Amino acid sequence: MNTIPLLDLVGQYQQIGDEITEAVAAVLASGAYIGGPVVETFEQQFANYVGVSECVACNSGTDALFLALRALGIGPGDEVITTPFTFIATAEVIQRVGATPVFVDVDAHTYNLDLDQVESAIGPRTKAIIPVHLFGQPVDMTRLSAIAAQHQLAIVEDCAQATGATWADRPVGSWGIMGCFSFYPTKNLGACGDGGAITTHDPAIAAKLRMLRNHGQSQRYLYEIGGVNSRLDAIQAAILTVKLRYLDQWNAQRQAAADRYTRLLQSLPGLLPPQPQPGGKSVWNQYTLRVTDSQADPGQTNRRDTLRQYLQTHGIGSMVYYPIPLHLQPVYAHLGYQPGQLPVSEQLATEVLSLPLFPELTAAQQTQIVYVLKDYCGG
Ligand SMILES: *Cc1c(COP(=O)(O)O)cnc(C)c1O
Repeated sequence: MNTIPLLDLVGQYQQIGDEITEAVAAVLASGAYIGGPVVETFEQQFANYVGVSECVACNSGTDALFLALRALGIGPGDEVITTPFTFIATAEVIQRVGATPVFVDVDAHTYNLDLDQVESAIGPRTKAIIPVHLFGQPVDMTRLSAIAAQHQLAIVEDCAQATGATWADRPVGSWGIMGCFSFYPTKNLGACGDGGAITTHDPAIAAKLRMLRNHGQSQRYLYEIGGVNSRLDAIQAAILTVKLRYLDQWNAQRQAAADRYTRLLQSLPGLLPPQPQPGGKSVWNQYTLRVTDSQADPGQTNRRDTLRQYLQTHGIGSMVYYPIPLHLQPVYAHLGYQPGQLPVSEQLATEVLSLPLFPELTAAQQTQIVYVLKDYCGG
């Protein structure tokens, strides 16, 4: 039995290992290990890629979101609207600047913010909206931008899982006042360590971000604002610059694999493949389907969890992103959300299952995975 992991970072490294080694060796020999020309080159290239004038690299996707909220001056007393069906970092940064997250339920098909419900969550304290392009699928930014403009709210895009995705042929990260990216190794553009970046069209915001990420310093030992240490290492920037050249190719490979899954899984009883929204181009950070009869028998073991076990015993990795929506996490108990309040997110938490997906995944591996799924589901 060949085991198939949820993701495999080694295959990609083997493909471009020589280029990475060379780029890293050049940084080691240069003596410029934090910031410097290698980081600046990456920032320029990444800004071009996203179609903006400015890119400010930092230490992680989490810090990118944090710095973005700080750059907007969001703090105590302010509210920020976001999705409860995301990685914790999205909401964590809202709390970290002292503001309050306001969770709006998601759409059952896109898993992204339900734009029909955003407007009713806007109040006098609302300052910004953080849409998350979850699993690589872009939010309808045309519509969200119109809502935000009407209420004079800032949009900070969480692009952590969507590097290279577009809405209406325009890259994510170029729609909002800022776009926040993660280069965590498992993201579409992944470093060999932590990394992140903020993109923006606004040079004044970029200047503020550059201060914030470096202790609030405007010139050496002159501190204008309270900042943090959140810079990108030159070694990571060098690796990312190499990998950026391959990103479109890798995303196309992910797209092909996703299409193949969807074709093969179309008529399996109890499985609902992800449904990309027309107008957007997903980059498939995850291939996440719904096991739709997970809740059929209350009191029984969740069918999604049983399927996951079954895949495991057949050597196939899978993962649940995310098992508990953020509004029901203990850390947000003080916000007072109750079970049943954001029902779509809660249902998805019991139904979603992410299958192996990475650029190097082969058709033969997918056939093997689908064979096991068919065996389990019947049909
Ligand atoms: C990964 C991720 C982050 C955080 O990125 P890090 O680089 O790990 O800090 C934020 N939001 C989402 C949706 C993510 O998937």
